[in-house]
Amino acid sequence: MKYDLENIFAKILRKEIPCDKIFEDENVLCFKDINPQAKLHILIIPKKPFIDIVDFLENAEVEYQSSFWNSVNKIIKKLDLNDKGFQLKSHKGTDGGQEVFHFHLHILSKS
Ligand code: 5GP
Repeated sequence: MKYDLENIFAKILRKEIPCDKIFEDENVLCFKDINPQAKLHILIIPKKPFIDIVDFLENAEVEYQSSFWNSVNKIIKKLDLNDKGFQLKSHKGTDGGQEVFHFHLHILSKS
């Protein structure tokens, strides 16, 4: 499978489609899910194009993977999620329920 430049998150990254932004740095963009499944439901996407978590783990440079997770940790801290707790999910492929083929993390929390 080839990365589709017209996927919805690629369009959000190019600012062709708006999003409800929570956080942005040089590595990631974080925004609210349009169809939340919990009181807090946000998405974290790398700014570089990867199809899914396996593509990211296999093909992203180690330095970029490290920077990505560092940015994820910044978001956890910014939203004060460490004490409260949260779910972290990533859907992979059609059998995993993936709908948007730009790698992303879901963070969900009850409050
Ligand atoms: P997944 O690919 O992990 O199954 O799910 C993609 C997620 O992206 C879904 O939870 C869906 O609600 C969300 N989503 C789809 N299109 C948009 C959009 O245009 N804006 C935002 N903010 N979220 C979206």
